[in-house]
Amino acid sequence: MRSHLLNDTTAERYRRTVTEGVERVAAHLAATDRPFTGIAVDALAPRIDGIDLDRPLHDTAAVLDELEEVYLRDAVHFHHPRYLAHLNCPVVIPALLGEAVLTAINSSLDTWDQSAGGTLIERRLIDWTAARIGLGPAADGVFTSGGTQSNLQALLLAREEAKTDDLASLRIFASEVSHFSVQKSAKLLGLGPDAVVTLPVDHDKRLHTVALARELERCRRDGLVPMAVVATAGTTDFGSIDPLPEIADLCARYGTWMHVDAAYGCGLLASLKYRDRIDGIEQADSVTVDYHKSFFQPVSSSAVLVRDAATLRHATYHAEYLNPRRTVHERIPNQVDKSLQTTRRFDALKLWMTLRVMGADGIGQLFDEVCDLAAAGWELLAADPRFDVVVAPSLSTLVFRYVPAAVTDPAEIDRANLHARKALFASGDAVVAGTKVGGRHYLKFTLLNPETTTGDIAAVLDLIAGHAEQYLGESLDRAS
Ligand SMILES: *Cc1c(COP(=O)(O)O)cnc(C)c1O
Repeated sequence: MRSHLLNDTTAERYRRTVTEGVERVAAHLAATDRPFTGIAVDALAPRIDGIDLDRPLHDTAAVLDELEEVYLRDAVHFHHPRYLAHLNCPVVIPALLGEAVLTAINSSLDTWDQSAGGTLIERRLIDWTAARIGLGPAADGVFTSGGTQSNLQALLLAREEAKTDDLASLRIFASEVSHFSVQKSAKLLGLGPDAVVTLPVDHDKRLHTVALARELERCRRDGLVPMAVVATAGTTDFGSIDPLPEIADLCARYGTWMHVDAAYGCGLLASLKYRDRIDGIEQADSVTVDYHKSFFQPVSSSAVLVRDAATLRHATYHAEYLNPRRTVHERIPNQVDKSLQTTRRFDALKLWMTLRVMGADGIGQLFDEVCDLAAAGWELLAADPRFDVVVAPSLSTLVFRYVPAAVTDPAEIDRANLHARKALFASGDAVVAGTKVGGRHYLKFTLLNPETTTGDIAAVLDLIAGHAEQYLGESLDRAS
């Protein structure tokens, strides 16, 4: 069994095994013609349940054959131009190279003595990102597992900076289309059930700053503590960007921590054309960025940045065995001092390889392309009487619904749209997402693939209309 351990004597086996896997995946990708096979849970589950985990195959080729059956063949493919559903991007090849390297070396980024250059590379990328945001000379941050963890950590720092033991008095302000991890964080942080004040949005799905000003004032009047405002730079549902400069002004006036959730909109940090859409982000106290959403990085790759490095001390604990206090005086960089995690992947390497091979402009150009695609898609939808489209895109998301002229019952239109999404998924021809707007069911394209064309968008819209019409036709038959 020792021959399976990676070391100097097994380097050749490692090369052969990984190459075999890479070749399988490459062949699989070359043969993929749909984003999904449409397989149902009940069809796939028995294949996985049927495998006896106590009887290994002892043969990589046989295991790869089996993997084709239980996973690869029916995987949902984000790289396919007709995968238009969630905030998943196709990944860039330099990042995959980084992934291969980081798992083989297996550095752990909690301490210098488990990572050496890994720690320094991560710190350079944090500094690079903070500089792109414009956070100033005292900025810092750390890589995280994702936007959810970044938001949690940012709100932990905000809670500590609010400097009160009366957790029930703390309030967080966020728009009604902010990410649900804000609510989850409030709960994890021990805040009261009323902690998150949900604010309305304007016609463009941006936080209403008049409402924010009113609620901040009310908070002060009621003797409560305005702990944080969460501004979203790229809402998950609409890609809308809250008015950051106005929010920054209000935060300054009320002494409130400004957190910008740019999990999605961070791609604009590299944009060649649309960087100004997130102007004001430089005034944040903390920022969430998900490179695995708009920097074309594989899951996971994310970070939380802060304006003032000193605030990260709220996440610091010293363990004798790991990062004893004296290491701080010895100026040994232990990233665990800043992180909610302990053992932690060297995810930063993927972004490093990407920047070194493609450059930030390369990433920005790809993200600009999907923003332009969304603008073209919006024009298609706005001109098409079969569809109602919600808001012109600020990033790369389109929310719309099929509205047949002959049907007036909104509940029936809801059902037709729900059916179209399901039928499309089951067909495997395309994958789209859904959400609710004003209590009604809508469909959603999140465009993150520069290979998707307006032709793909038009074709998927026709497929949606076809499935919805079929449903409505059958529904008429049922009624008569
Ligand atoms: C996706 C998303 C998150 C959560 O990020 P994960 O990486 O999925 O944990 C948070 N906020 C916004 C606005 C998002 O779109």
